[in-house]
Amino acid sequence: MARPHVVIVGAGFGGLAAAHGLAGAAVDVTVIDRRNYHLFQPLLYQVATAGLSPAQIASPIRAILRKAANVRVVLGKVSEIDKSRRTVTVENRTVTYDYLVLATGARHSYFGHDDWEGAAPGLKKIDDATGIRRRILTAFEQAEAATSAEERRRLLTFVVVGGGPTGVEMAGAIAELARVALRHDFRTVDPRDARIVLVEGGPRLLAAFPAMLSHAAHRALEELGVEIRLGTPVGHCDACGATIGNQRIDCGTIVWGAGVMASAAAHWLGVEKDRIGRVMVGRDLAIAAHPEIYCIGDTAHALDGEGKTLPGLAPVAKQQGAYVARRLRALIAGKKTPGPFRYRSWGTMATIGRRAAVADLGWIKLHGTVAWLLWSAVHVSFLIGFRNRLVVMLDWLWSYVTFQSGARLITGPGSH
Ligand SMILES: Cc1cc2nc3c(=O)[nH]c(=O)nc-3n(C[C@H](O)[C@H](O)[C@H](O)COP(=O)(O)OP(=O)(O)OC[C@H]3O[C@@H](n4cnc5c(N)ncnc54)[C@H](O)[C@@H]3O)c2cc1C
Repeated sequence: MARPHVVIVGAGFGGLAAAHGLAGAAVDVTVIDRRNYHLFQPLLYQVATAGLSPAQIASPIRAILRKAANVRVVLGKVSEIDKSRRTVTVENRTVTYDYLVLATGARHSYFGHDDWEGAAPGLKKIDDATGIRRRILTAFEQAEAATSAEERRRLLTFVVVGGGPTGVEMAGAIAELARVALRHDFRTVDPRDARIVLVEGGPRLLAAFPAMLSHAAHRALEELGVEIRLGTPVGHCDACGATIGNQRIDCGTIVWGAGVMASAAAHWLGVEKDRIGRVMVGRDLAIAAHPEIYCIGDTAHALDGEGKTLPGLAPVAKQQGAYVARRLRALIAGKKTPGPFRYRSWGTMATIGRRAAVADLGWIKLHGTVAWLLWSAVHVSFLIGFRNRLVVMLDWLWSYVTFQSGARLITGPGSH
């Protein structure tokens, strides 16, 4: 008898956890991803600010799943799902499934202003990160060659939109790059004169963290010289600057760290979605009337035991992937399936810079050096592959001791 076929779309945190959970089970598994690598998104901002190289935070999917003999990897972009025929369209081919796991993540959203993307790129892919790195480093180069003080000032102004973890991390890292790593490298300009403006529409930074940690992050950023604008939404972004509230800020670089929109999974399935496009799933993470289709991670709107929506975090996606794998194993073996999905939170963290981070572990709230050491240890340990862990750890140690950042390369379009 043919073994059930499980198709997993997306090899991010959720999809990989599901694939690992099904390794060695009595099923054939196909993992489909449009990229040939798994990306550790929490460290993307370090690529964007020249702290790490792309290969240090990405690993080939085939290599990660090499030992799982029942798992096949297909490189391709999914564009359609037929629920009645149980098929997935991947570019010009059709793949049939018995069970489908959708783990296609999210992308950034411009709240209806998609035309701002060219001027204010977001951070989701490696290409986004190397593109932002190019803009930041090029701004310093152009400022060095600028002939007017006004143009120099504009080029050395950086606006980061969004006071969530991505915005806070980006603003802190740009400030450190300017004030520490680049400080002796230019002759006409002093990189320490760079102005970094962090803009948040809400009343405080890191709104999902307890207020005392928001305030600690605020203070740490101000110590780095970051100018923080709270309660002022962005009204407009273009190639020469941004409008914040009713004030125009001329700048050379804008980074978008606000708002996310789920992948197109709800559209492919033709099912109910929430305000940011996430598929509504039950407590078993399956969609209504289709117990063979599961949605997990950033593309799913799932509730915790108290009826609150689960956040878009890597540990949520990982635990959901592992849960769906356990559920499928039980279903296929004709055993009792596990009860509803429960998320076990170990805490949340964000880093600001050298010896500055915040960590909310529920039972204890930390900031400063201890939180920074914890943040570093957790992020290194979650990277995939011993080599990446070792190399990132050595790179961080080197940067800490020498005050240098090693990946200051201007690459890609427009870099000659
Ligand atoms: C800059 C940044 C920083 C972050 N920092 C943190 C942090 O510090 N801590 C934390 O917990 N979380 C953080 N997150 C959130 C975390 O990365 C996400 O919650 C997590 O990646 C969600 O996992 P996922 O499996 O749902 O999606 P993803 O990890 O995004 O994976 C989705 C996969 O689906 C593939 N895919 C998408 N569409 C298609 C298609 N049509 N066809 C084929 N394949 C497709 C993609 O290529 C990708 O590999 C951060 C996110 C970003 C962007």
